[in-house]
Amino acid sequence: MTAVRVPGTPVIEDGRLVSTSPATGAEAGRLPVATAEDVGRAVDRARAAGQWWAGLGFGGRRERLLRWRSLLARRIEEIAELVHVEGGKPVADAVVELVTAVEHVDWAARNAGRVLGPRRVRSRLVLAEFSAHLEYQPYGVVGVIGPWNYPVFTPIGSAAYALAAGNAVVLKPSEYTPVVGQWLVDTFAEVVPEQPVFTAVHGLGDVGAALCRSGVDKVAFTGSSATARKVMAACAESLTPVLLEAGGKDAMIVDADADLDAAAEACVWGALTNAGQTCIGIERVYAVEPVFDAFVGKVVERAGRLTVGPDDADIGPITMPSQVDVIRRHIDDALARGGRAVLGGADAVQPPYVRPTVLVDVPEDSAAVREETFGPTLTINRVRDADEAVARANALSYGLGGSVFGRRHAVAIARRLRSGMASVNSALTFAGMSTLPFGGVGDSGFGRIHGEDGLREFSRAKAITRRRARSLLPSTTFERTPADVARLVKAIKVMYGR
Ligand code: NAD
Repeated sequence: MTAVRVPGTPVIEDGRLVSTSPATGAEAGRLPVATAEDVGRAVDRARAAGQWWAGLGFGGRRERLLRWRSLLARRIEEIAELVHVEGGKPVADAVVELVTAVEHVDWAARNAGRVLGPRRVRSRLVLAEFSAHLEYQPYGVVGVIGPWNYPVFTPIGSAAYALAAGNAVVLKPSEYTPVVGQWLVDTFAEVVPEQPVFTAVHGLGDVGAALCRSGVDKVAFTGSSATARKVMAACAESLTPVLLEAGGKDAMIVDADADLDAAAEACVWGALTNAGQTCIGIERVYAVEPVFDAFVGKVVERAGRLTVGPDDADIGPITMPSQVDVIRRHIDDALARGGRAVLGGADAVQPPYVRPTVLVDVPEDSAAVREETFGPTLTINRVRDADEAVARANALSYGLGGSVFGRRHAVAIARRLRSGMASVNSALTFAGMSTLPFGGVGDSGFGRIHGEDGLREFSRAKAITRRRARSLLPSTTFERTPADVARLVKAIKVMYGR
């Protein structure tokens, strides 16, 4: 990488990754870049540490994870400021991200034993002479590869659940937010100083690729769908299981009986929070004909009030400078093809900032509707009815989240969205509900973080049967007689043949 400094674009100098603010270019920190050998050594150390960590049991891990949770909560201003300085995210947005992350650490710590611990499960009549036992054991070392847009929430969504399940974790934070990633592992080491249970390796994509090939027992990747494909290909070489949390193009549907003020408020926040750089951000809206004009008016009024700039503004800079070109292309293409900007437009792009832009009547096959924009822009298209809205929402290969506003049919519409999550009469709220699983379908990836599914994602089911009585109808032995087999045939007909 060249040493020409574009504010916010990471550079490598003298073997160190230099991270800068996209708003000011101020240096946020520099960290050593890992070689493939360094990654291998980090995983070896984590493997030994993981055995110690697993040996602590659910109680020991719970106690330590809750101490980390408390530290995160106590130092929330410190980490919010670091997220702001390094990625440009407004402090208020960073606080919301952190609150959610703290909640996930708390839930994972408290519930891992209940969800994953050893339990008896029912025997069935067919093998009634055996008892059945189930438990979920840790993989060993989980490699977590993270993006920059939620540099605390996304790694913690995997790491806290993996740690609670008894794994060690090696994190490869995004090269755009390595300092925040290092802060996470450093603070974890403050409360768990004994062993390197949660560590980080730094660098560009090649370091993530090295982590996939390092012998980790599972990879949890969060990032773009294009990189997800590379991660899966690399992991395929060693049959390393993967969890892929990839991109999205989430839709909001506004039905005829929606509360339009509430819908507009949630839409503006869901689309523009974090400058629209949210995997589950609302990027497209389908509003039914009777409410379309009123809804658009309310969105424009609210979005037009937002402030843009550094520090206390509602909308901060675009974190990844190269994304500005994508946002510009989507706006230009939408306008060239007959879409209209009812707020913002081509002039809204003023690097490193993009002013809120609302586009209407944008052709469904344009980039602004089909591709992830990752900026403070939004398309709102009119549809006949909720059926057409669902068909359009489901027309893309992405399927991460979604939102529905309405009364009578809203939940039924939410069920029909081809997505892993949906929120009814709100936006993005499923992400903070630690009891619910989080993940996508199609190009948005597979596997689940958060909730009980998220804990199981980082463990292997271990099944044990134990004999508790003599077999009355012996079958799993060569000592069985033809009469035993005949009785078995008779029994199965009585039990299931009706
Ligand atoms: P990205 O795919 O460019 O990078 C993500 C991470 O992968 C980085 O740490 C990067 O260094 C690493 N990487 C790059 N090449 C690699 C390779 N060949 N092998 C292994 N690792 C490699 O994504 P980004 O720009 O950092 O993040 C934005 C994307 O993340 C958006 O598409 C967004 O929708 C998605 N995202 C998804 C979720 C979710 O939960 N589904 C959450 C947040 C962000």
